[in-house]
Amino acid sequence: MATSRKPRPHALATLAIHGGEGPHVPGDPVVPPLVQSVNYVQEPGSEELMYTRYGNTPNADRIQKRLALLEGAEEALMLSSGMGATACGLLALLRPGDHLLASQFIYGGTYRLFMEEFRQMGIDVTLVDPFEPRAWRKRLRKETRAIFIESPVNPTCRVLDMRGVSLLTKELGIALVVDSTFASPVNFRPIEHGADVVIHSATKFLNGHHDILGGVVCGTSAYIDEVKQKEIVWGQTPDPFACWLLERGLKTLDVRVQRQNESAGAIADWLEARKEVRRVHYPGLKSHPDHEVALDQLDGFGGMIAFELGGGAKAADRFAKRLKLARYAASLGGVDTLVSEPRFSSHARMTADQRAHIGIPDGTIRLSVGLEDVGDIMADLEQALR
Ligand code: PLP
Repeated sequence: MATSRKPRPHALATLAIHGGEGPHVPGDPVVPPLVQSVNYVQEPGSEELMYTRYGNTPNADRIQKRLALLEGAEEALMLSSGMGATACGLLALLRPGDHLLASQFIYGGTYRLFMEEFRQMGIDVTLVDPFEPRAWRKRLRKETRAIFIESPVNPTCRVLDMRGVSLLTKELGIALVVDSTFASPVNFRPIEHGADVVIHSATKFLNGHHDILGGVVCGTSAYIDEVKQKEIVWGQTPDPFACWLLERGLKTLDVRVQRQNESAGAIADWLEARKEVRRVHYPGLKSHPDHEVALDQLDGFGGMIAFELGGGAKAADRFAKRLKLARYAASLGGVDTLVSEPRFSSHARMTADQRAHIGIPDGTIRLSVGLEDVGDIMADLEQALR
């Protein structure tokens, strides 16, 4: 697959506010209007239908141009959820009889999509430990059409080294697909490291306010056309209001993520020194197994931390019930600090042993650091730990 890397005309913080806009004239609204109409008057006989499900309405067009610029891709498509983006993004690449290689460290919903839905459709999926030497090459088949990875990984924040895997996909002419939800383009832009396709749950850092569901697929124009066909027939198009809210959310992406990087770094250091905490997973810590890769590939270590309590599941129950400021809730990447436990959320369908095997024994807490004062967040964690 030809890479879709495009040079960026401005710094990311500027693109997040103005990317893709045309010249402005007196009388233009500074905030773009929300055009909630589903259908539009057209010239009789027009070939391209303007209809919200076709993803070509004014608010969708604006946000898609901006998202492509942020990732350095030729084109981007916004879909109605991160799962919609992963499903349509991969169905545009794979046919029955094809084979997909996927990292075993992926979001639980993606795991179900691959292992249940894709397999029923005749698309075979092999899960791979990406940290095993030559892991990808060993499991290749002549039917392999794509490699799928998630980096940083939910919730351990393992960072996958892109070098080997991107050389391999280039050599074979197959697609490298990266779910970059945990990083956001502020911290990591996979296309700069050899990816062909970038996927996001826009529900998370991109929007950042816990008030929309959305997904994004970025890649070449030809590929995005294929994804669009899947989006249209599977009905995965976002509502114009979700596009409008994502545009508003993106305007503060850079400052939000920079602040989340800063606060999470301070909290990770602090947690590592606490006696109640057995282990902290944060790529900014020297103790993290991928600290060197993170230093090399990422522009920031991110707003996500996982930590393991010495007292196991019982200690986690007590901790979660005592929180006052942080909310115990699913999802991540927004302005409010959220706490969740993989055993009840992203990895609920695995057994306790399976979770322990991938480094998240029960008693593991996932923390999505918000924009509250970092001292207040730490004080809340401290009173809940004590
Ligand atoms: N990818 C990752 C890494 C996620 O964490 C999630 C959701 O938590 C998704 C994809 C799916 O996104 P959505 O909930 O927007 O469908």
